[in-house]
Amino acid sequence: MKRKAVYAGSFDPITKGHLDIVRRALGVFDDIIVGVAYNPAKDTALFTAEERVAMIKTAVADLSDRVTADAFTGLLVEYCDRVKADAIIRGLRAVSDFEYEFQMAMMNRHLNSRVETYFMSASETYFYTASRLVKEVASLGGDVSALVPPIVHRALVERYGPRRP
Ligand code: ADP
Repeated sequence: MKRKAVYAGSFDPITKGHLDIVRRALGVFDDIIVGVAYNPAKDTALFTAEERVAMIKTAVADLSDRVTADAFTGLLVEYCDRVKADAIIRGLRAVSDFEYEFQMAMMNRHLNSRVETYFMSASETYFYTASRLVKEVASLGGDVSALVPPIVHRALVERYGPRRP
């Protein structure tokens, strides 16, 4: 039986750190859905869910036979039921990610014990890459081109203007 996992997050926007986790997860799972979680009532994201999904699709185009992107709202475990996935993937960077991630994993298990959470550790190259920081640096004119896929870099430049000397 094929193993399908949901790699869930806000992906606002997707970074090379996220892509690193997707590639690692492909070593363990057959199919991966990159699931963009959004809340229409209080979404403070820079990019709309549709924009985030479109950027992910472009960034994983070379893996499109096994990786898809989708947006969902509501409980992640219910989304996993809908798409018939039995695993959630989360990426861990520093120890500081751990407490929050552990709480979420326990809560998701409480809600649906069929779905198992798997943690994968980030590549040391992207250990410090976070969407929030990438946006902040880009908004101040810093160069983030090495940290995000080209489609995201173009979108950030469009939003914030080109890099300032
Ligand atoms: P963030 O806004 O912090 O980048 P997301 O909610 O979009 O976070 O992230 C989805 C998942 O990917 C989370 O489990 C997060 O810990 C993980 N993640 C984010 N950035 C990285 C990275 N550079 N390396 C590994 N995992 C990451």
